[in-house]
Amino acid sequence: MNRRDLLKVFLKSLIFFILSHSIAFSKLKKILKNDEDWKKVLTPEQFNILRREGTERPFSSILNNEYREGDYVCIACETKIFHSSMKYDSGTGWPSFFDYYKGSIETKIDYKLFYPRVEYSCTVCEGHHGHVFDDGPKPTFKRYCNNGKVLKFVPAG
Ligand SMILES: [Zn+2]
Repeated sequence: MNRRDLLKVFLKSLIFFILSHSIAFSKLKKILKNDEDWKKVLTPEQFNILRREGTERPFSSILNNEYREGDYVCIACETKIFHSSMKYDSGTGWPSFFDYYKGSIETKIDYKLFYPRVEYSCTVCEGHHGHVFDDGPKPTFKRYCNNGKVLKFVPAG
């Protein structure tokens, strides 16, 4: 392959990369703000969890005992993250779910403790919500351990 062909292949894959990523992003529009602007719309506790990867005290969220039918949305941008049918009582003191609305969250590895954990955040506002563990119930065996104070419950109907 000569230099010109290589360049062509490179440009083609670059264009494909840009297109495939722009299609992924066009599904959910990002809402990005700086810290000062988030502080205007979030309480200090919500800001600490969402923007500083903080964790609320266990058993401190009223959503631990919420079992009505409805959706759990991100408090910052109202993106639907969980449905009540995905919720279960893990006994940990944080609202726990075994599944989520596809595309609503993104995960990354967090090394804040001495072992790596999988952290997840809202796709739209990029706010931190919680961590994923492998001790959940069927059918996913995942536990999405969410800070209840950064979720808003929207009852069905
Ligand atoms: Zn959000």
